[in-house]
Amino acid sequence: MLLRALSLLILALPVGDACTQCRVDARRTSLCAAHLDEETSTLREERSVMARSSVASERTSALERVARLTSAHTNAPSPNVARFLADGLHDSSLDVRRRALALLVDGQHREETVRGLIDGWRAALRLWKDVDTRLAQLAAEAPKQAATFDLQQVSDTTAYLEALLAALGEVHDERAYRELLNVFKWPLERTPGRFYVAATHAVLAVESRKGVECVLEFALTLESELAAQRVAPRFAAKEGLAASLARPLDNATSAHVEATLEALAHFAERRKLGAPAPKLGSAAQWRTWFKGAKDQLTERMTLLE
Ligand SMILES: [Zn+2]
Repeated sequence: MLLRALSLLILALPVGDACTQCRVDARRTSLCAAHLDEETSTLREERSVMARSSVASERTSALERVARLTSAHTNAPSPNVARFLADGLHDSSLDVRRRALALLVDGQHREETVRGLIDGWRAALRLWKDVDTRLAQLAAEAPKQAATFDLQQVSDTTAYLEALLAALGEVHDERAYRELLNVFKWPLERTPGRFYVAATHAVLAVESRKGVECVLEFALTLESELAAQRVAPRFAAKEGLAASLARPLDNATSAHVEATLEALAHFAERRKLGAPAPKLGSAAQWRTWFKGAKDQLTERMTLLE
């Protein structure tokens, strides 16, 4: 158990060195003089790149150089570095945002990582709102808007949102987890089924009674709403290139119910809590399963592996 905990700790740190003089006290990170100097000058230089460069790859390189500062003192990641990277989640380019996200969740200052991630997530939701408006126009067959439908931007935004969902589970923090669970309250008739599946995997990457209950309730609600024909596909019957390209972003179907139950069954297997088959029509068995399993699930979230 101890060995496993240790290996987790090592995995969570970026490749690099610890510094015997950089320190983390109760709530403060203090860098040694050499590393503080290096941080100050690097942040100054790269901040100016971020401000003036209109080339996305130059801004990405600036973020990478800043992220690397931590590898010289992995025992004491600086909050300033995490804040700098978190600012990258508000960049005008989605490529830059995705790179900033990957760098941020890779062993940087914990508190600033969580705060920056939640903030970046909320900014991405505002972006998604625009995409959703365009999808709604497409579903309503407004030909003008359909003609200007920017598929690249839609698929980039989708990929970025899915990366954020995974990160919200990965940081293993109650606040981030709450944001993740909120996804299951999104309207069924206007949320791509794949977002629910991505959120499910992120939720079940940690153990939490509330998380398991939320995913299960969602799967069973979706199943009964589909049976009652209250979740219609948005693009299935629509013609045209844009509609066919938008189809992967369609509303949830019974395949998503099964994918969600499958993720739950896999979770149960890892925890050795024998579960029913991940099939449609097994709601009663799944409810019985949860009743029996819930006392064995931790109330506070715990990292699984
Ligand atoms: Zn140092």
